[in-house]
Amino acid sequence: MQATDDSCSDHRCHHHSLVASVSTMKQKLKDKFHHHDEEGRTHRKHRILKKHWNQQEWTNWNNNQTCSRATLHHPTNLDEIIGIVKTSDKVRVAGYGHSWSPIVATEDDAAFSLIDLKECYQLKKILSTPEQVRATNAVTFQCATSIQDLEDWLRREDIPMTLPANVVLTEVFLVGLTACVCHGAGYDWGTVSDFVRSITLVDAKGEIITYTDQDPRSLPLSEELLTRSRVEVVTPEVMNHVRGSFGLFGVIYAMTMSLVPADIICMRDRLEPVETLLDPVKLKELVEKYNGWLEIFWVPFNDNIWLKTWEIAKEGTKRDKPHHHTSDMVLGRAGRLMYDLRPGRHLSEDKRHKFGKVYLHKVFKMMSVEFSKKPIVHHYHRYDATHYRDYIDNFPVEDTEFSLPVDDDYVNAANGFRVLKETIEDIEAKDALYPVNLTCEMRFTRGTKVSMSQHPHETSNKWVHMEFLRSSLSGLEDSALEKSWLEAVHRITGKWIEMGGLPHWAKGWHLIPGIDELLKKKVIRKNFVEFRRTVDPNGKFLSHKFSQLLENGPVSGGERFGEFSASTESTRGHTTSNGHAVQDVEAQKMREAAAMAGHSASLHGNTAPEVLRSLQEMRIAQTR
Ligand SMILES: Cc1cc2nc3c(=O)[nH]c(=O)nc-3n(C[C@H](O)[C@H](O)[C@H](O)COP(=O)(O)OP(=O)(O)OC[C@H]3O[C@@H](n4cnc5c(N)ncnc54)[C@H](O)[C@@H]3O)c2cc1C
Repeated sequence: MQATDDSCSDHRCHHHSLVASVSTMKQKLKDKFHHHDEEGRTHRKHRILKKHWNQQEWTNWNNNQTCSRATLHHPTNLDEIIGIVKTSDKVRVAGYGHSWSPIVATEDDAAFSLIDLKECYQLKKILSTPEQVRATNAVTFQCATSIQDLEDWLRREDIPMTLPANVVLTEVFLVGLTACVCHGAGYDWGTVSDFVRSITLVDAKGEIITYTDQDPRSLPLSEELLTRSRVEVVTPEVMNHVRGSFGLFGVIYAMTMSLVPADIICMRDRLEPVETLLDPVKLKELVEKYNGWLEIFWVPFNDNIWLKTWEIAKEGTKRDKPHHHTSDMVLGRAGRLMYDLRPGRHLSEDKRHKFGKVYLHKVFKMMSVEFSKKPIVHHYHRYDATHYRDYIDNFPVEDTEFSLPVDDDYVNAANGFRVLKETIEDIEAKDALYPVNLTCEMRFTRGTKVSMSQHPHETSNKWVHMEFLRSSLSGLEDSALEKSWLEAVHRITGKWIEMGGLPHWAKGWHLIPGIDELLKKKVIRKNFVEFRRTVDPNGKFLSHKFSQLLENGPVSGGERFGEFSASTESTRGHTTSNGHAVQDVEAQKMREAAAMAGHSASLHGNTAPEVLRSLQEMRIAQTR
């Protein structure tokens, strides 16, 4: 009996020490990834490529943008920001540093003061009270507040609200991502910057100004902002310059954004044949069914796409707990390891390159493991549905994204994808190389009035954002692959530009030939440039790159819209100057797209609407 008791207590002891060591391990892991500030709040630590982040030299997350000749500053409060602005000739600000392009600072920005906010934990405060947030459906916060920081606060304060739409990753700062006009998905929204209601910044003279186009009494501003800043109620046009400012008007200290109820969202993941994206009729049907609230992934050389759709769930639906946290961490790390180790790197070059295709099939298998057999449905808090993947920034990637206007017939969108797919396949056939070695993505949003956006509402109210990615690690030590990636970028974006495509400011556009001219002609607005000159005449906040873009030759401003639609109109003409009927170019494009999708046999009609009708009739006949 005694012996049994002993073994029992031994067993219990053993069990307890096992539990204790597991929880110590868990705590150690938590500490490895998190930082605690003086007020006891927990923040995620910056992990990726951290060895490159030091006090002397600024680099972005992906390490492809650097500025080593600026003096770095890490202010802890508003007065320190004012001090830096007043004592510096030139100032730039870096948020969390997750943009791939030269929109923060570059090696040409010598003798600049560079405010690097990424480890400014004292500038993460929510400045509104919970009562103000509930009363105004908006929240004001400081400039180093990340998407996750805001959401944590809302949940701590038991406020069932969140941002309407957003980028997928959660680590980036709300000020940084709105300053460069980022977007999520869905035709109900344009950009995240559209949700900005006020911005408080330190201007070139060191004065604190709060810009808004609304009644200031409707804003949840703090006592500090109300007493210390000069509130300027500006026109919606000026506010749309300030919403996407790229740090050109001053150092943003605080910002107010609108919130919506944190509805429960029904999120579905499933496979669809890749042909859906090539057929404008099927694509239109799919996208319009969800009002653009979907995301599409295609990993090259796979026959299926990953389709993610969102809808507001029926009232009373029970909410699922997000389950992806741990698996995303593991997948992110495993995925990275796969590219990091680069199996086969000791083989000869052509054998090594063949691994590219093996990767692509494996990557898609990993991505779709949960829904490869049958669709999965989750009912998530709006925030968890929007940010459906965690730890995205574990995995350094390169990314190029363009926005293309979506016409009523969706031909441009389908053709945009066709260009992407065919170029990747052509590079394989020609060189046996796989430069786009991760995924291609498609999201749809509406146009926006934010001045410097790459998807202006005047051009089109519907836009498709197409991007393609590669692992940042794969090009290292491999000049053939590096050259091939550049070829893919040039060829794909060259065609997209012909189709009215414009580059995402934060993503890799800077190596595309002629891109500065395109930005000047079609994205940078004259009235934005004029406003910048008024608020910062000596160019205190003007980096070398923005000086080239904004102050080196004319920009088209508002004229670009007239010019753009005029040239589009000219391609739609039905008669030549000598009166002969010519074929409608749009109709021709549709026919080409339909032919690609195997629909060309009995198409008729000369104009785009006629061809679309013909296509739709065929589809209806097929489904009968
Ligand atoms: C893995 C990954 C996924 C992404 N997913 C998406 C996506 O789904 N959709 C999308 O649209 N984008 C996406 N992006 C792009 C990303 O959202 C942008 O790069 C965004 O700017 C990141 O915010 P940040 O804090 O890193 O800003 P930074 O890159 O540091 O800065 C962006 C701009 O804001 C300015 N700025 C920052 N803070 C201030 C301030 N306080 N005062 C004045 N100016 C300031 C900077 O000077 C710069 O011009 C993704 C990027 C990565 C790396």
